[in-house]
Amino acid sequence: MVSTGTAANVLSIAALTPPWGSVLCHSESHLLNDECTAPEFYTSGARFVGIGGADAKMDPAQLQKLVAQKIGDVHSCQPSVISLSQVTEVGSVYSLEEIRAITDVAKVAGLPVHMDGARFANALLALGCTPAEMTWKAGIDILSFGATKNGVMTGEAIVVFKSSFESKGIDSNKVAQELAYRRKRGGHLLSKMRVVSSQMMAYLSNDEWRRNATHANAMMALLQEGLKTVPGVKINTPAQANMLFCTLPLDMMRHLQAEGFGFYTGRWEEGVIRLVTSFQTPKAGVEAFIDSARRFSLLY
Ligand SMILES: *Cc1c(COP(=O)(O)O)cnc(C)c1O
Repeated sequence: MVSTGTAANVLSIAALTPPWGSVLCHSESHLLNDECTAPEFYTSGARFVGIGGADAKMDPAQLQKLVAQKIGDVHSCQPSVISLSQVTEVGSVYSLEEIRAITDVAKVAGLPVHMDGARFANALLALGCTPAEMTWKAGIDILSFGATKNGVMTGEAIVVFKSSFESKGIDSNKVAQELAYRRKRGGHLLSKMRVVSSQMMAYLSNDEWRRNATHANAMMALLQEGLKTVPGVKINTPAQANMLFCTLPLDMMRHLQAEGFGFYTGRWEEGVIRLVTSFQTPKAGVEAFIDSARRFSLLY
């Protein structure tokens, strides 16, 4: 257990790359854009390389090209880890086949694969598969198992998949052992770890985590269906889980803000907003949002 998703990501990756390694991830990834050089700090300066691909999913062909480049060339960093985000940063979800297309490239190159599962439960419910099918059975070696965004106060787990690692000839016990020291060194071994662990136990009991994600995803489906019918709203990436990026006329955006709705703006092109539903989003709130947008579009 660690207390943030950033720690889960960077500790996982630091345990798998030397400082001269390169970590291949999507150019939109949280690692590259939202972790304030923690990745470089925790890995003692490894290079994080952005890979392109539609809907913030890595393109396996581009990945293949980079994985094979300059191997053994002492002048170049050496590909050492591949990291993908499930749900992605734009709200899309890799299908099991798409995950496998990435992990197949990794397998041939002998590289471990990390999954940033900050929204793991939302992706799982969207695919309707088992956790095993979305991780080790699909070639994932190590997982940042997010829980904070789906209901716990603070707490994320790092999960090391023994059989996956061993199929690549990597000793998973060594990885786990190293993680223990790295977690302490990084200041994420809490003296009252039970405060964090008890949240995770509650989260995983009685299907709480599935219930929370089911609700969040259902609210997003409702929101997306509603927004599709509002003139002027453009859906940028169809939401598959609980996050949606869309573009609104600026006046509509200001109108919604003035009515008290909260969402992120300003980090992207003008008019682009990010909408996220959660375990606690009320249905009436979603309906009010759609109504408010529609009222605006009818008036102007
Ligand atoms: C939120 C998030 C994280 C973790 O963020 P913290 O704020 O460090 O907990 C990691 N990856 C993705 C894709 C996220 O959305």
